[in-house]
Amino acid sequence: MSMKIYDFVIVGGGICGCSVAYHLRQHYENILLVDKLDGVSKGASGAAGAFLSPLLGKPNKFKTLVNKALLFSIDFYKQHTANFIDNCGTIRIPKDSTDEEKFQSYIPFMEFPFEKVENGYLFKIGSVVNSSSICETLSKDTPKQLNYEVTKMIYDGNYWVLNDEIITKNLILSTGANTKLIKEAFVNIRAIWGQRIDITTTNSTTVNYHKECSISRSVPFGDTLNQLSIGATHHRFEENREVNDEDTKELLLKASDITNLENIEVIARHGGARASSSDYFPIVGEVINSNATLNEFPYLKNGTHVNPSRFSRYPNLFILNGVGGRGFVLSPYLAKNLVEHIIDGKPLIEEIIPDRLFQRWVKKGV
Ligand SMILES: Cc1cc2nc3c(=O)[nH]c(=O)nc-3n(C[C@H](O)[C@H](O)[C@H](O)COP(=O)(O)OP(=O)(O)OC[C@H]3O[C@@H](n4cnc5c(N)ncnc54)[C@H](O)[C@@H]3O)c2cc1C
Repeated sequence: MSMKIYDFVIVGGGICGCSVAYHLRQHYENILLVDKLDGVSKGASGAAGAFLSPLLGKPNKFKTLVNKALLFSIDFYKQHTANFIDNCGTIRIPKDSTDEEKFQSYIPFMEFPFEKVENGYLFKIGSVVNSSSICETLSKDTPKQLNYEVTKMIYDGNYWVLNDEIITKNLILSTGANTKLIKEAFVNIRAIWGQRIDITTTNSTTVNYHKECSISRSVPFGDTLNQLSIGATHHRFEENREVNDEDTKELLLKASDITNLENIEVIARHGGARASSSDYFPIVGEVINSNATLNEFPYLKNGTHVNPSRFSRYPNLFILNGVGGRGFVLSPYLAKNLVEHIIDGKPLIEEIIPDRLFQRWVKKGV
């Protein structure tokens, strides 16, 4: 019996992995999506609100990336997952007078129209998505192996072999905050744990709000109640915190400072770890083999420049990670870029490829 050989295996069924699966499926049939949990979106992705809103500020590369991705992803969700995105608008409420001044200083650089409303600024592009349904829809045509943790990956000269049994030509790692599979110190993902809560209330909201936390527009719940989400808390360097009362209290307090919600009942609490890179840019592309690269170019350690095109990379291994607190904004766009890069050799922008992390890591002294 000959063993099945996949064209692509994707490890991790969050919004990163599901977005890659969607784009790859336009070109390949022979794909497998693997997750250690019992479904897609059971990690950080299922915990997300998930709000899509513009990044405000003076021009910089991060803002350009986020806002490009926002336009792409909203359009993408509307096309492919229309039932699970609500482009209801988001009102940004300045936290205090300093925040208001900051907002004013950003006005010359606004990339999206907004209007002054009573207590803040309404951005019509602001949206909210159903995170789990989006992941399920994007990955629905991709065969899956669930409840399956990859603990071992070996390149045998031709193929990647996972846990000594799954064989694939190409491997894509989108494992979120859990980066144990990548034995490379420069891929330094930081976990930022967060909690979101879903509540019922007798009040209703027609737009999303964002101040110290976000509140979603409400949807009817039974005959008299409305349901909405409040998110999210942030705990740096914590990967495995449990959902807890303090975080619930914090969210309810912050929400009460935004709008009046009465007869609140918390009906669900979700927790998950965002995966953030050290410079907040995502990490997308081929993974550099640091040992092999430093063996070949030992003088890299003395600061000598080597053209990154000469760095040694693990063959047919790609990463999509580090999407931080904006996974639902960034992932569809980054996944499309990655797939075009793999298939057509289209270059990825410098800010997102792993090279910069490797170069900084070498500079710091290995
Ligand atoms: C409370 C909260 C609120 C948020 N709110 C927003 C928001 O409003 N808007 C927004 O855009 N983003 C938001 N985010 C961020 C967003 O959720 C993340 O950026 C996104 O989910 C990251 O997706 P991912 O695919 O990288 O990771 P994950 O969703 O964590 O997926 C990784 C998957 O890999 C699997 N895996 C890991 N290791 C292995 C292994 N060895 N073998 C098999 N499977 C493995 C895991 O089980 C997991 O399912 C929020 C996050 C949190 C926690």
